[in-house]
Parts: sequence; structure tokens; C-alpha cells
Amino acid sequence: MILVTGGAGYIGSHCVLKLLSDGIDVIVFDSLELGHRETIETLKRYGSLKFVQGNLKNIDDIRGVFMSNKNIESVIHFAGYSQVAESIKNPQKYYYNNVYGTLNLLNAMLEFGVKQIVFSSSAAVYGEPKYTPIDENHQLNPINPYGNSKLIVEKILSDYDKAYGLKSVSLRYFNACGADSNGIIGEMHNPETHLIPNILKSDKEGSLKLFGTDYDTKDGTCVRDYINIDDLINAHILALKYLQTNNKSDCFNLGTGEGNSVKEIIELCEKIMCKPVKYEIHPRRTGDPAVLTADNTKAKEILNWIQEKTLSQSIQSAYEWEKYKNSAE
Ligand code: UDP
Repeated sequence: MILVTGGAGYIGSHCVLKLLSDGIDVIVFDSLELGHRETIETLKRYGSLKFVQGNLKNIDDIRGVFMSNKNIESVIHFAGYSQVAESIKNPQKYYYNNVYGTLNLLNAMLEFGVKQIVFSSSAAVYGEPKYTPIDENHQLNPINPYGNSKLIVEKILSDYDKAYGLKSVSLRYFNACGADSNGIIGEMHNPETHLIPNILKSDKEGSLKLFGTDYDTKDGTCVRDYINIDDLINAHILALKYLQTNNKSDCFNLGTGEGNSVKEIIELCEKIMCKPVKYEIHPRRTGDPAVLTADNTKAKEILNWIQEKTLSQSIQSAYEWEKYKNSAE
């Protein structure tokens, strides 16, 4: 059985769906502060899924999960806050949840002898890039509390390996996007801050805000590396296999290696929606580097990860999901 923390959220729920589809028993631990109960209900239709509502900040909540489920073999840890701007305004929230919460999880794992974890890290651990595409040897110099919280956990994991033999794979996500290709689940943040869903729903909710047109990039807007959610999740399954086979800790970038500007993403969305997107130009958003693209060689060579989906397929799936959500409302 695999324990998935944050399994009711965007990335976590796609991972749970994949594990269940592969016939693996899953237990989800989620506070439902950002995750969705209806997502759990949907996922239950696809395999053997237990759900525990709890908060990692309460050590007894997570200890209880291990106490009652002695067959947990490994953990995939998605639970955490992920908004850069919010982390700058409220660092306490980020350190307390992302770091202290993770410490509780790790301590419970050690107490119950569970020694393998896949951790959702982020490209934010690199900070302002010195060069792109960024490889795993790039200097680690986060520029906001969110990135700091991810790097601190990576360091804790490294120390826990040396001291206690706890093995971890940290996956440094670039920009996850899209929805599951069968339309079962998708992205549902409230409030939504991500570019692609904001473009897709801009018609309904007024103009899109475009943050910054004065960056040193091909068209002045920020360049990001958008990786399809199903492709991203496949890397988690490979990471679990890596831990089982090699019993060794490591970290990997997860991105496509391609960069697309905000304006290019808007154009792609327009093509898929067959209509123009209205946008207003706003000043730069705090903490946004001009370009973030991944060198994914390590994930390809060591995990045997491959990119299967194109950016158009990701946007198409996100669009289908947006239409489905609107029709269900
Ligand atoms: N962005 C934007 N308008 C939005 C949301 C995002 O212009 O409504 C820009 C943002 O400034 C960044 C890029 O789109 O340059 C990707 O942002 P997102 O929040 O999707 O991901 P992040 O890179 O912050 O993880």
C-alpha cells in the first residue's frame, strides 16, 4: 500500500488515479483545506482507496495512519502550500506547514519503519537561474519562502538518509499543466493563480491579467517549461521503482526542456478554444524569474522517463476539463 499525502489536490489526485489504475492499494491523507472531497469520491470508483482526513501539523493524525495501516510500503508526499506570493507575505504558514508538517510525517515514517519517500520539490529551489536549461547541479539559492521550504525539506531528507537510512527521491517540478486524458479529474484551485486555467476561464470571469511584458525574453513575457500532468505522474511511478530497485536517494528535474512565453501560451489556448483571449497588461508578479526551463537529461537517463504528451495535448485536456466543470456547476 502506498500512502499519498495531499492526494485530494491537483497533482496528488492524478497520482492516486494512476496508482489505482495500476492496481495498487492507496491511502490518501489530506486536510481538505485545498483538496476536494468530491475528488476522493470520484477516485474511489477506480480502485482500492482509503481516505483519512488529517493535518500533518498534528503528529497524532499522521501517526494514526501508520498505526492503523501496517502495510504502508512507501509514501508519496504532495501535501504542502505552493503559492510563491503568499509565501512572501506569510512565511510562517509555509515553514510551519511545509517544513514542520513534513518533519512530523518523516518522524512517523521512521517510528513505523517506512523508509521510502517520493517528495514533491520544485524548480523554486534553484532561485534566479544562472543559466538555462537548469540541470540538477545548478546552484540552490531559493529567492522566496516557498522555495526555501522545499530546499530545507530536501536537506532534511538527505540528513535522514545518512543518519536513519530513509531513502528519498525529490522531484523538482517545473510547471505542471493539463488534466487527466480521460477527463476524470483536473485542476481545481480556489483561488486559481496558474496561467493556463486562468486563460481558459478568462471569458467567463473577465480579462486575463498578464504579469509583465518587460522581461528579457523573446517577446517580453516570462518563459516557463510546461510539463503535462500525466507525464509528471509517470515520473513518480518511476521514482518509486527507482527506490525499490536501487534503495538510493536522488533528485530529478521534471520538465520538458522546452520554454514557452506567456504570450505563446495565450496563442495556443486561442487556437484550441477557437476564440481570442482578452488580457490586461499588469506589472511583474513578485518573485517571477524571466526564464525557467529544465534540463531533463537526468530523469531520462536514470529514471527512463519519457515525455509522451505535447503542450497542445495538455492545453486541450485542460480545456475539456474546464468545459466539463462548467457544465457540472
Ligand atoms: N501568469 C500571468 N497571469 C496569470 C497567471 C500567471 O501572466 O493569471 C504568468 C506568471 O507571471 C508566470 C507564468 O504566467 O510568468 C506562469 O505562472 P504560473 O502561476 O502558472 O506558474 P509559476 O511559474 O508561478 O509556477
